[in-house]
Amino acid sequence: MALAHVRSYYAATVNDSTTYPRLEGNHVVDVCVVGGGFSGISSALTLAERGYSVAVVEANRVGWGASGRNGGQMIAGISGEHNVKAQLGADGVRLLRDIRYRGHDIITERIAKYGIDCDVRYGWMEAAARPRHMQGLRDYVDERIAEGDGEGLEIVEPSAIRSVLGTDLYHGGFIDRRSGHLHPLNLCMGEARAAASIGVKIFEDSEVLEIHGGAKPHVITARGRIDAKSIILAGSTDHAFQRGRLNGLTFPTGSYIIATEPLTEAEVAEINPQNLAVADSNIVLDYFRLSGDRRMLFGGRCNYSNRDPKDLGAALQPRLVEIFPQLKSKNIDFAWGGRIDIVLTRVPAIGRLEPNVYYLQGYCGHGVNTTHLAAEIVADAIGGTMEKFDLFDKIRHIRLPVPRWVGNQMLALGMLYYRLKDLL
Ligand SMILES: Cc1cc2nc3c(=O)[nH]c(=O)nc-3n(C[C@H](O)[C@H](O)[C@H](O)COP(=O)(O)OP(=O)(O)OC[C@H]3O[C@@H](n4cnc5c(N)ncnc54)[C@H](O)[C@@H]3O)c2cc1C
Repeated sequence: MALAHVRSYYAATVNDSTTYPRLEGNHVVDVCVVGGGFSGISSALTLAERGYSVAVVEANRVGWGASGRNGGQMIAGISGEHNVKAQLGADGVRLLRDIRYRGHDIITERIAKYGIDCDVRYGWMEAAARPRHMQGLRDYVDERIAEGDGEGLEIVEPSAIRSVLGTDLYHGGFIDRRSGHLHPLNLCMGEARAAASIGVKIFEDSEVLEIHGGAKPHVITARGRIDAKSIILAGSTDHAFQRGRLNGLTFPTGSYIIATEPLTEAEVAEINPQNLAVADSNIVLDYFRLSGDRRMLFGGRCNYSNRDPKDLGAALQPRLVEIFPQLKSKNIDFAWGGRIDIVLTRVPAIGRLEPNVYYLQGYCGHGVNTTHLAAEIVADAIGGTMEKFDLFDKIRHIRLPVPRWVGNQMLALGMLYYRLKDLL
């Protein structure tokens, strides 16, 4: 039985409630995509635009997973870039620089081309949570400028922070005018509608139970089967095939968001007059932005052990009030959570398990941009253009050969260390 979208601000304001049929009977396509989040829908749309016949098979609803629940922050670059620079060499590092905003560009082009209404706004800030973090942020901006990729970056000096955000808690930061924020469920549903309009067959309520590669790739659900030349395991899909072959690569981690009642215009003018999306510089970070109807969407408090807080409002609101005491009396209208897939290197895992079975996953909380980039990289690879795919495929990921729950406990301990470090 398919699960509905979780109760969230996004589900309450979704502007496209199209449902797609359950997979019944046998179908034959060029590419079968498992998973209807950004990774899957974006792969399908890119491939269909290039003339492939494509089917997407989703266990629940389009955008049911992280893609329909996230903070909506469209952040430049892949996570963990610094961790793998040494592995990639100068050409690889240059390529990463060239694709830093590729996901943004794909999203922006699609919003215009298919008329997707998802409240997109540009302007994103990393705020220094500690005075000592500011030097790291300056170095990052300097490095980007030296690479010739500094367009749209601005340092916010500690003395100027109050003119950007209505809080005394941060110690400066930088703004990236090319990054921004959007309503992720409306983007995902809009992209699905666009994909369906050019022939992609989308099936919901159709959990994939079996995946077969080899000479005759196909997937099987309770009531149907799809034969394809290639299969894409798109995102945090969950089935024995993937669990077996990718065991120990990604670890699901809880992240949570609250949405206040709408703020007044005066409150917005004081708190976030430039309508920026903001993430702080801690490893276990807070992130926030305003919705299209001026609510404060405030997220954070990752839970690496996977035990969800019983009362999300009670877990998150005190931190929101610590940053913005002005919002102390605001009602919390929505609170929800989802799973972020963490890879130990922090770099997304893009590769293949067999010549015709591809996977893309593990965006570590940077998936809005990167899913779109990764989807294009996999679509390129299916078409025979391998340069970017090979760059990611050759990254040596750390795999923990332990059951997921053990890995999550280890991750929780590691993150506790970083949380203490953040606090010092
Ligand atoms: C609370 C939260 C906040 C976040 N904030 C941000 C942010 O601000 N900015 C950012 O860039 N990223 C953020 N992220 C991360 C981002 O949302 C993800 O990286 C991205 O959405 C991953 O997309 P996906 O398509 O790979 O996975 P998902 O969206 O999870 O999609 C996977 C889909 O596969 C389906 N599926 C699973 N198993 C099967 C099966 N057997 N058969 C068929 N279908 C199956 C699921 O139902 C699901 O719909 C956040 C994530 C969370 C949870």
